[in-house]
Amino acid sequence: MSETSVHVPIGEARVIHVGGCPACRVGVMKYYFTCTGILLAIIFFPLGLLCLFGLQEQRCSHCGVVL
Ligand SMILES: [Zn+2]
Repeated sequence: MSETSVHVPIGEARVIHVGGCPACRVGVMKYYFTCTGILLAIIFFPLGLLCLFGLQEQRCSHCGVVL
């Protein structure tokens, strides 16, 4: 019986936290729809949906920073 060693690529194990907060590096950035965007989406439906997605903002769940 030949012993085979399993090599786990360390480089592949590195996880890039997509959506992480650049300010505190703790929280996670989440998308929030603004009141203006929702209002425009209702009034100018369906074209208002473009405004809704255009006006959405990223906010950190930890420190609350808005991008
Ligand atoms: Zn943050």
